[in-house]
Amino acid sequence: MILEAEPGEEYVDRETGEHLEVVGKLLPLAPSPSDLPWAVENLRFCTWCDQLVQKDLNDCTHCGRRMEPLPR
Ligand SMILES: [Zn+2]
Repeated sequence: MILEAEPGEEYVDRETGEHLEVVGKLLPLAPSPSDLPWAVENLRFCTWCDQLVQKDLNDCTHCGRRMEPLPR
């Protein structure tokens, strides 16, 4: 599961009450052929290398491989 976090905010798991820790930061990769802003709702995982890629792209920006089409 991925959550978008605001700096300085505290996040707690709704079900377990567990404190959520920031485990990673997403940094915009430039340049990207995508027009989409680098936001969680615009990203998906590459089927090959498991890196985050903007949803409107067909080819992964990390490994360059053609990703499977998104289910509609
Ligand atoms: Zn990839």
